[in-house]
Amino acid sequence: MKRQRENAIVFADPECCLGCHGCEMACAVAHSGTGLHQAALAGLTLRPRNRVVAAGGVMMPVQCRQCEDAPCAAACPTGAMLQESGQVGVREKNCVGCKVCVMVCPFGAISVKHEGTDPENCRTNGGIARKCDLCAGTGRDVPACVEACPTKALTLVDLEEYRQTLIEARAAELAQSLQHLKSRKARI
Ligand code: SF4
Repeated sequence: MKRQRENAIVFADPECCLGCHGCEMACAVAHSGTGLHQAALAGLTLRPRNRVVAAGGVMMPVQCRQCEDAPCAAACPTGAMLQESGQVGVREKNCVGCKVCVMVCPFGAISVKHEGTDPENCRTNGGIARKCDLCAGTGRDVPACVEACPTKALTLVDLEEYRQTLIEARAAELAQSLQHLKSRKARI
């Protein structure tokens, strides 16, 4: 079943990442439509939609940030990339694999890869744009990468909940400061 999540992203904490690539494997298997063993037996090429990178002295996976003003959606000449309900999705039937989205993505989070078209019988490579869909198409409640990470370096962050937590924390601090001020005034 397809699940849509509004205003949510996968957040990666580089301080916790081991660089084990488990999140990549989990992503690739989740989107393969089969299990790891079956995929290996069938000779399927597993394609993750995230990429673990080493940069600036840390390791961390990078994936789509579901940009609000998504450059990929603005640049796509066929309307295959679209920002809708807080997520950037790919309308696969419209994608011609021109790679404009790959070039404009600020995070390098989109790939266009060959999808196994029979080269004998087809004049095109058949590659289409792939990116993190927060596992919307896999029927999971939590993205596979988040579930698989052994160190909990990845979190599915609902930005509305996150914002609410921040607001409540700051409100509690302000209330405490006011109480402190009042008790000081009372002592003067
Ligand atoms: S599974 Fe976790 S620890 Fe391993 S590479 Fe991915 S984020 Fe890092």
